[in-house]
Amino acid sequence: MSWFKKAKTPLAPAKQSRVPEGLWTKCKECSEILYTKEVVKNLSVCPKCNYHMGLTSFERARSLLDDGRFEELDQGYGSNDPLEFSDTKRYKDRLRVSKEKTGLDDAVLIAQGELQGIPVVVAAMEYGFIGGSMGVVVGEKITLAAERALEQRNPLLIISRSGGARMQEGAMSLMQMAKISAALGRLDDAKIPYLSILTDPTTGGVTASFAMLGDINLAEPKALIGFAGPRVIEQTIRQPLPAGFQRSEYLLEHGMLDMIVERREMRHLLGRILRFFTEPVVRGAARAAAEPASVPVARPEPVS
Ligand SMILES: [Zn+2]
Repeated sequence: MSWFKKAKTPLAPAKQSRVPEGLWTKCKECSEILYTKEVVKNLSVCPKCNYHMGLTSFERARSLLDDGRFEELDQGYGSNDPLEFSDTKRYKDRLRVSKEKTGLDDAVLIAQGELQGIPVVVAAMEYGFIGGSMGVVVGEKITLAAERALEQRNPLLIISRSGGARMQEGAMSLMQMAKISAALGRLDDAKIPYLSILTDPTTGGVTASFAMLGDINLAEPKALIGFAGPRVIEQTIRQPLPAGFQRSEYLLEHGMLDMIVERREMRHLLGRILRFFTEPVVRGAARAAAEPASVPVARPEPVS
């Protein structure tokens, strides 16, 4: 006789959930459970608390360009792992997994398309590829994007979302800061607009180079933007940091950004800025047509 007997018949194997995976999304900020379709329709902004969730580089390009259409450029690059780096995993394996996961060859998508009818070159960083870190390939592709913008005389848009330089490539990754900055300098000399859009998070060598070099630097609300992380700074200076430190609103208040733009407004606003930069001749001609050829100058009456 056994000491115990089964009081109940075993439970039937769990029925397969009829709720498909990904039907619901939990907002990280307000913990609200949201219908994924509604979130996607809202450009991944929480309809309850306005938290701007992360976008992939492809989603970003689609959200900004006319009809969500663009041509992907400069594909087929790959890091040659110059340091043969390995930590808990081999760098080569991290690269392979990230490529499969994102469908990109590295942490940036280069796209050519039109924004409200204006041809633009877009570089959108991909956080899902080793934290959007900038190695040799990211540096090369963003430089190529800047060179293409220069050659075609099209505005350049860079959407940053990155943990910074890629430690697995050591000093080679840090060199990309100077390389991209030099290419942007040539764009500036040619008076081609470069708009930088900083999204959550933009940190390290990306903030310290091209992300802050836009003719206009725009950020999404509450995006973390900084060089070193807040914990590192707090430990170094041994002082608590002010509330909202390294968030877009704090940076705007301290003169580090030009404006904060909600994601829903971004495309419209970029269109306005680009028209301002790219249609000076038309605006000048329209003004000249509206104004009389010579404006009489009011002179003060001579004092008798
Ligand atoms: Zn929320």
